[in-house]
Amino acid sequence: MNLERRDFLKVLSVGALTAGNVTSVFAGIRKTLSADAVGILYDGTICIGCKACEAACKQYNDMPPESANLEKATGVDGIWDESYDLSEKTLNKIKLYEHGDASTRNREENGFAFVKKACMHCVDPDCVSACPVTALTKNSTTGIVEYDKDACIGCRYCMVACPYNVPKFEYAKAIPEITKCEMCNHRQAEGDIPACCEFCPTGASLFGNVTDLLEEARKRVKLVAGSTYEYPMRSLDEGDLTPKTVAPYINYIYGEKEGGGTQYLLLSAIPFTKLGLPELSATSSASKSEGIQHGIYKGMVAPIALLGGLLYGAYQTTKNSEG
Ligand code: SF4
Ligand code: SF4
Ligand code: SF4
Repeated sequence: MNLERRDFLKVLSVGALTAGNVTSVFAGIRKTLSADAVGILYDGTICIGCKACEAACKQYNDMPPESANLEKATGVDGIWDESYDLSEKTLNKIKLYEHGDASTRNREENGFAFVKKACMHCVDPDCVSACPVTALTKNSTTGIVEYDKDACIGCRYCMVACPYNVPKFEYAKAIPEITKCEMCNHRQAEGDIPACCEFCPTGASLFGNVTDLLEEARKRVKLVAGSTYEYPMRSLDEGDLTPKTVAPYINYIYGEKEGGGTQYLLLSAIPFTKLGLPELSATSSASKSEGIQHGIYKGMVAPIALLGGLLYGAYQTTKNSEG
């Protein structure tokens, strides 16, 4: 028998140490963003519902118009696009909140307001965690959740996993893909900002560094209704400001904590629960499921020790029989 007792114990201790490392690496899991992570701040209080962001999104992402009657839509009686919600052809959607006589903008009772729907670019994305083939990945610099159509096997786990119901599947295509907003990363690669922010006439869709956007959002929720504030247009970096009268903000930044946080942040004068946004805990489902996996790894320390004991017993028996 060539296996010496010392060598055996070394193997055993390395095994135990490896198991310990797996546990410690994952035990303190807390997803953080790079300092260069980018995002979008959508301020519903200054959105006028013009949908220029939707049209620009379609144009710069080669998305076709949606219409139940496309023939009519191309004629003078039709409308160009009549998408109702996010779909495989619509990556960015403005929705309307209405109550009572809907007479006053940014008011919950007898009022109306707008809210924008798109991929939230979660800090710890459930879609990425669910994808079995890493077709969805989180860019380590920008934090953008990116999609690789060549890696995708069409299982649609991402659709089930996303708490915001964002990824859509091209059911009608022979070779379908998943579609969702990728924050115009192709435009950003050319030095441009996302189309929805570039073409927003009010600054309601604002691009920037996530940390800076969060700071801007924190400033806005403290503003006094009726006062005047210099709202940045298009991108925080541009420094182009437009004065506007401040609406009564809800003192809450949606996306700051939801599901572990998102890079798309929202402000509103209407409670977010009324705008169709889910109430989520501050922990992502991805980290919860990883916690379970890590618990399993942690639980493996005892079986490894037991296995070690059995192997050592076998080694002793073999040694005694050889001796
Ligand atoms: S909103 Fe959905 S699709 Fe977008 S990153 Fe989060 S989990 Fe993924
Ligand atoms: S459909 Fe594609 S992107 Fe979505 S989980 Fe499956 S392989 Fe990943
Ligand atoms: S372009 Fe701007 S103002 Fe117009 S609907 Fe979109 S976010 Fe609102």
